[in-house]
Amino acid sequence: MGKKVSKSKKISKGKKAVEKRVKNKKEPRQKPSEDPVLREILTRIAGERGYEVAKVLVGEETTDDEVAKRMGMRVNLVRKILYELYENRVVSYRRVRDEHSGWYVYYWRIEPERAREYFDNNKRLILQKLEERLKTERNTMFFSCGNGDPKVSFEFAAENDFKCPRCGSKLDPYDNSSVITALERQIESLRQHLVES
Ligand SMILES: [Zn+2]
Repeated sequence: MGKKVSKSKKISKGKKAVEKRVKNKKEPRQKPSEDPVLREILTRIAGERGYEVAKVLVGEETTDDEVAKRMGMRVNLVRKILYELYENRVVSYRRVRDEHSGWYVYYWRIEPERAREYFDNNKRLILQKLEERLKTERNTMFFSCGNGDPKVSFEFAAENDFKCPRCGSKLDPYDNSSVITALERQIESLRQHLVES
């Protein structure tokens, strides 16, 4: 995470002005206790990072700038994730024009009911995708630099002289057995859901 914080300094200066004008900033509210079903759904829709972003929105309406600040993430990345969630209709936004700057400020909120609907309507598709991913994880020898950059296949690593395309560090074999275990567990629980419904 530390690495990402330093990158967030690149946020454009114009945005800073908007941020300052967002009034009535409330103290962060006490979040309701974590909902495991919602967590599962959101992770499936938008990945672990998507879930982390959505979690900030649980029980409160917040701007993308605020989410980025709290998570120490670049605001562009937060926006990308929010639009992904929006495309799946599990978050919505309210657009407000700031009278002073003329900028639009987006207030995002989560729609837990929609998330559940999405889940109900897409169980089979999600299961299929998870099974495909599991197959890839099982059949691929992965390499990683260990610096948090995406893992790559053996073929890709070999073509790049075993240097990470992002940071240039040496790529070492990556043990993905925990990923496989997690996927197997998710697939099992999803199959259970399908049997019950
Ligand atoms: Zn790297």
